[in-house]
Amino acid sequence: MGDTPPAANVLNDRLLRSWLRCRRKAWLDRHADPADRQWTAHRNLQLDDQQRCFVALLPQRPGHGDAACRDGAPGVVGLRLKGQGPAGEALEAHPPLLLKVQGQSRWGRFAYQPVLARQGRRLTREHQLPLALSAQLLESEQQAPVPELLVVGGGGRRLERDRVPFTTGLKRQLTDSLRRLAHDLQRPNPPALAADRRKCTLCCWRGVCGAEASAQGHLSEVSGIGAKRREMLIELGVHGLADLAGADPDWLASRMERFGDQHGEVARALVLQARSQRDNRVTRLSASPALPELIQAPGILLYDIESDPDARHDFLHGFVRVPRCSDSRWDLDRARYHPILVLEHHGEARCWRRLERLLTRYRDWPVLHYGETESLALRRMAQRQSLPDDQLRLLQRRLIDVHARIRRVWRLPLSSYGLKAVASWRGFRWTLQGADGARALLWWRQWLGEGPQRRGSRHALRWILQYNRDDCLATWAVAAWLADQDATASGGS
Ligand code: SF4
Repeated sequence: MGDTPPAANVLNDRLLRSWLRCRRKAWLDRHADPADRQWTAHRNLQLDDQQRCFVALLPQRPGHGDAACRDGAPGVVGLRLKGQGPAGEALEAHPPLLLKVQGQSRWGRFAYQPVLARQGRRLTREHQLPLALSAQLLESEQQAPVPELLVVGGGGRRLERDRVPFTTGLKRQLTDSLRRLAHDLQRPNPPALAADRRKCTLCCWRGVCGAEASAQGHLSEVSGIGAKRREMLIELGVHGLADLAGADPDWLASRMERFGDQHGEVARALVLQARSQRDNRVTRLSASPALPELIQAPGILLYDIESDPDARHDFLHGFVRVPRCSDSRWDLDRARYHPILVLEHHGEARCWRRLERLLTRYRDWPVLHYGETESLALRRMAQRQSLPDDQLRLLQRRLIDVHARIRRVWRLPLSSYGLKAVASWRGFRWTLQGADGARALLWWRQWLGEGPQRRGSRHALRWILQYNRDDCLATWAVAAWLADQDATASGGS
């Protein structure tokens, strides 16, 4: 999680959190070359959330270190706790915040409890156990029990408090996890790649592990295989991409049916997908055009949303308007970007009016987007804003999910059909290297700063718009390829 490698042979709360996320991650944190770590916006978003939560919990600035504990400060940061585990191993924790509570400690007629801010909506072992480690070490440090741990959430918008009793059961889980963590760290080689590779997108070791997965021909490299299907395939003796590509599709379908009919149905598609990746082959799956709506369209709108998922707020609706020339070519020289920025206090009605104005101005133009997020968000907003049913149907018909169309008509030699993978395959390059949705969200928060009077960096806003515009153009890179293939198949130019 952190950016600096942990000290050798010490088990700390950060290593424990890494291990709970992915056993391999803790091993890499300890043993891998720090130069291979990649920056991730996730950690900064987490710190930003934490800061907001703590300000909501404790309006006054916390004190620092042991001196603040002696003074009985209401909140304390910067206290490094040390101790020993049951097997004599060195333990350390650096709780993000200690909160003063009732009790009797070596500092006086009060005690402290450790506090953690959670990101996301659920309280998990990833929150509880590192906090339990802080509690265990704090008990020795303050010479007073810690009956309860506190987890706060809500990103500072509304303060949510989860009180977690520090029970014998939780202590047992902590001891057991520390023992297994220590054992994993002593292994000469890293544990296997995470079964659920979706979590890798947020991980600083994604570069190292991605290279390893592709060198191994790991099953997770085949598009359509998640943790569950991978387990089923391994049970059937299919261990990697090469095994899957070499399997008989009918045999695999009949064997996978025993896990449920739906798995039998996808088995053939998985074999063909693996072959496509092995042989670097592009296959057309349907004779019907992928984007028939584009044949007569006078122009198109490319549409992409940037969101803050925790706040359930879409802060940017970005459109690129691409008109068509009289000779039916798409006129990219006259393409224009229309960002619609939405501050939470603007309210949805105002946002809808701006969107409706733009959509009405280009009423015959299809709206192309990648994935279902945009069409869901726009249709739901239109419904909430009481758009009549007939107009809602028209809007729905205009919204074209390029991702769904590509999946319906093409099989590509790619491990993912996400926008980044497909557009990069078509040669599209994003202006801002390494940017992603999480980074855009971080830039948004940096720009929001402390409110209208104290806005943060204007650069951050420029980067968000650049990234969003690029996502629209990346959607076009894929759509243009689809349209070209449609034209070639129908014998057009
Ligand atoms: S990239 Fe994935 S497999 Fe590798 S350490 Fe991170 S979560 Fe684990």
